[in-house]
Amino acid sequence: MKALVWHGKKDIRCDTVPDPVIEDDRDAIIKVSTCAICGSDLHLFDGFMMGMKEGDIVGHEFMGEVVEVGPGASHKLKKGDRVVVPFTIICGDCEQCRVGNFSCCERSNRNKSMADKVFGHSLCGAYGYTQLTGGYAGGQAEYVRVPFADVGPVKIPDGLTDEQVLFLGDILPTGWQAVVQCDVQPTDTVAIWGAGPVGQMAIRSAILLGAKQVVSIDCVPERLDMARAGGAIPIDFMNESVIDRLNELTGGKGPEKCIDAVGMEAHISAKHFDSAYDRVKQAVMAESDRPHVLREMIYVCRPAGVLSVPGVYGGLVDKIPFGALMNKGLTLRTGQTHVNRWTGDLLRRIQEGQIDPSFVITHTVSLEQGPEMYKVFRDKEDGCIKTILKPGQQLH
Ligand code: NAD
Ligand code: ZN
Ligand code: ZN
Repeated sequence: MKALVWHGKKDIRCDTVPDPVIEDDRDAIIKVSTCAICGSDLHLFDGFMMGMKEGDIVGHEFMGEVVEVGPGASHKLKKGDRVVVPFTIICGDCEQCRVGNFSCCERSNRNKSMADKVFGHSLCGAYGYTQLTGGYAGGQAEYVRVPFADVGPVKIPDGLTDEQVLFLGDILPTGWQAVVQCDVQPTDTVAIWGAGPVGQMAIRSAILLGAKQVVSIDCVPERLDMARAGGAIPIDFMNESVIDRLNELTGGKGPEKCIDAVGMEAHISAKHFDSAYDRVKQAVMAESDRPHVLREMIYVCRPAGVLSVPGVYGGLVDKIPFGALMNKGLTLRTGQTHVNRWTGDLLRRIQEGQIDPSFVITHTVSLEQGPEMYKVFRDKEDGCIKTILKPGQQLH
């Protein structure tokens, strides 16, 4: 089959690789109809996440048709079912899964001891996302092996397009969880850094969950336009002071809720001295991530407010004003998304027409065009906000 394969930093290729096979009773094989490139994939592409191995198949946002089911999953799935597969692999019955902390699943990461060493405790397994999360083959491919297929995949009812439901596997619940973690009140201003796909989903979620005011911070004009169309007040951080504007919009008090939908690759600019400092430290391997957004959120957030961080960080950050965080009494909430905790409710909201996440798609391409689209997406060329790929189809 064809699949997108990681060969090294900035080197992803569309290769021919062996088809996946059932390895365990609870496995299923999915024929992928649509998959997407996520902002998290850019951290792999740019070489900022440790634990990638040459030959790893990437991709963790995908859906398709069940073509084979192991005997341990056949009570839940059958050939021909149409499913979205959450990026988090979950066992369904460990202590964490039982309380819905799915991204902390204690059993699905087959390289658990490696992650235990690095993070203190392992996180769940994930598709196409480094050896630290199990080294499972990803979904930017024609076929994928889905472990624990009796609990992970979400069955899709007839009448919904791939475009409407694909993002149930990652960015929609990610934006949603980021906002739910803020415990939004009708009097709240929610400020969201990053107007990429995750930021866009967070904007729609914050409006649906009843925030008084939603503010979107980025520097890419078409992303800020999309944020405005979704009901947010845009701030262009290259042309305005984020701190001054946020204080202005909140009577000098700062937003009650702040969401970091940027993560470890914050923009580097002379305007933000600390981002250039981080870049230098990264270059000499003295820091792994660029946490400009974390610093800005801690500074501007209203005392007793909440910081919610869906943006991915990989390792060590420097110069975090922890004194301000502590003395202002801020609450910090983070995490890889507990995808299956939200999929039932979000699927219902899609069916009822409350949300249609397909608005974020700007590019639909074939799998063969995937490697090129990694660059286009990273460099925000051609108005690219979200790319979906159609394995097995020739598109131009
Ligand atoms: P993206 O790279 O398209 O979006 C990031 C956006 O942040 C870009 O539009 C960029 O212009 C903007 N940005 C950069 N520096 C900024 C700054 N200083 N202030 C404000 N905006 C700035 O990616 P995405 O798909 O939207 O993903 C966003 C983050 O969410 C990534 O870190 C990704 O890894 C993470 N993510 C996390 C989960 C999870 O489970 N927690 C799931 C999906 C994605
Ligand atoms: Zn993702
Ligand atoms: Zn589990």
